Amino acid sequence: MSLINEILEYNQSFVDGKQYETFDTTRFPNKRIAVLSCMDTRLTKLLPAALNFKNGDIKIITNAGAMITHPYGSVMRSLLVAIYELGVQEIMVIGHYGCGMKNLDSLKLIEKMKEKGITEDKIEIVESDGIDIHKWLSGFENPVVSVAETVTLIKEHPLISADINVYGFLMDPHTGKLDKIENEA
Ligand SMILES: [Zn+2]
Repeated sequence: MSLINEILEYNQSFVDGKQYETFDTTRFPNKRIAVLSCMDTRLTKLLPAALNFKNGDIKIITNAGAMITHPYGSVMRSLLVAIYELGVQEIMVIGHYGCGMKNLDSLKLIEKMKEKGITEDKIEIVESDGIDIHKWLSGFENPVVSVAETVTLIKEHPLISADINVYGFLMDPHTGKLDKIENEA
């Protein structure tokens, strides 16, 4: 709890000191861009800084690997809200070099769950829900292919209108350099 208490104490001083004032904006993105990126800690502040995104400029969705694991899951849902409710026109899928989702092994991940007490019958509950647990918990082999496939999935989604532009990129997690992915997927 001590870490959480530290956070709460800091938060109180942040609010009391009115440090929020420099972040003031609306929920509508100034740049009409939505970014799908990875939850990698190195990108948290580097990505917006390297692309000159200020608070209020963009919608940002992050998850493990900047992936869309289901065409009707929460990432696509968020993108649809960003487009139709919040005026987004451009979507940037930004993966990165050195991503932990490259070659993520579902067998090893499930082993770690078992070490923490997740029993085989719990795994079976997931599978009986119709989930292919190994597919669901797998990463990708090649980040370029993964980003390109995600771009294609968004572009070809039945609920994405033709005026929305979708682009793929990979970021260097040290320098912030952005490389554009030409879509072949
Ligand atoms: Zn990553």
